Amino acid sequence: MTRFLFVLASFVGIAAALADAQPAQRVTIRAGRLLDGRGGSRENVVVTIDGGTIVSVGGASGPVTHDLSKYTLLPGFIDTHVHIGWHFGKDGRFDNTGETPDDRLKAAIENARITVMNGFTTVQSVGEARDLELRSALEKESLPGPRILTSVRQINERTGAQRGERGAPPVLATPEQLRQAVREAKAGGADLIKLFASASIRDGGKQTMTDEQLQAACGEASAQGLRTLVHAHSPESIKASVLAGCTQIEHGNFATDEVLKLMADKGTYFDPNVGLVLQNYLENKAKFLGIGNYTEEGFAAMEKGIPVVLDMFKRALRTPKLKIVYGTDAVAGAHGRNIEEAIVRVTQGGQKPMDAIVSLTSMSAASMRKSDTIGAIAPGLQADLVAVEGNPLADITALRHVVFVMKGGKAIRKP
Ligand SMILES: [Zn+2]
Repeated sequence: MTRFLFVLASFVGIAAALADAQPAQRVTIRAGRLLDGRGGSRENVVVTIDGGTIVSVGGASGPVTHDLSKYTLLPGFIDTHVHIGWHFGKDGRFDNTGETPDDRLKAAIENARITVMNGFTTVQSVGEARDLELRSALEKESLPGPRILTSVRQINERTGAQRGERGAPPVLATPEQLRQAVREAKAGGADLIKLFASASIRDGGKQTMTDEQLQAACGEASAQGLRTLVHAHSPESIKASVLAGCTQIEHGNFATDEVLKLMADKGTYFDPNVGLVLQNYLENKAKFLGIGNYTEEGFAAMEKGIPVVLDMFKRALRTPKLKIVYGTDAVAGAHGRNIEEAIVRVTQGGQKPMDAIVSLTSMSAASMRKSDTIGAIAPGLQADLVAVEGNPLADITALRHVVFVMKGGKAIRKP
């Protein structure tokens, strides 16, 4: 009898485990309209997902797990440039006076939550060591958040240099010190390298790393199999970065037609930020003003920058074969509103809605060397999916109206 009960208990245990695992395995979604992220568009489609992976995309009738026939289904959105941990403190200011590490982690967790709830299933943070802590907290506690890639640290013209005498001008890093910094970033868990080749737009955007320094840093990163995202505003800093073999240029606010063409010729990814970062700074001016280079002059430079950047973006669109990725430079105040960049790119920059969507999905996945896992709705890829109300091809602002989000086959937001 005891033996019988034991066998029965084991059987029930196994059956329960199977029942638990099986329904979660196969999931079907009916979409009224499907934009596949690679430029394709279809109507009334069923997507079948098994174990978190898309196994088929096709027409089918019958009941489905998620009936999204009233909505447009797209691949999960990707933002290649965020600062996921940046937030305003309890006093409403950016310097977060008196915060504990736990307060900071909680704020970052909230940024991650609102980012994914608004359709962004992958972000690239460029980046700080705390990103690693955030990523493991989200995983450990199964909290809603995007996949996070991080540079862990940022490298500039002084990284790794010996400190100069007090009062002496800052010491530049040697090429070997920069190569060392790249290796240390990799050892510290960096998915990519973030470099500063120019000053901030608040400080004029002039080249800060020398050509030789860029060659050392980007050369070492490439030898280590890492991508290099380079903050560069002036044409000189962009040109030097591209010629040094760096893989992606961020911002490029003062890019000339010549350097736009150079990026296209060399296959360098370009991440212009026209729709969110500067606008967000101006909207939240009181929360930043007086901290670091957030001065009145800095704000004046950013305000003047908005039309300059928009003009640059229009010229970028006219540059044949230029690979424009999606990045917002989301800072404190901007998280959860990452899609505003796409809306400005289309409504003010003149980008075609389908091109903006491809940039937001498959092009950004390619820039991260992740085309085989994310960025499109296709068999074999992860089921990172977003449904929105309306048709974004007719009205790009439909992307604001997210009703459904799935990451790796798990629905985290439902209509
Ligand atoms: Zn940034």
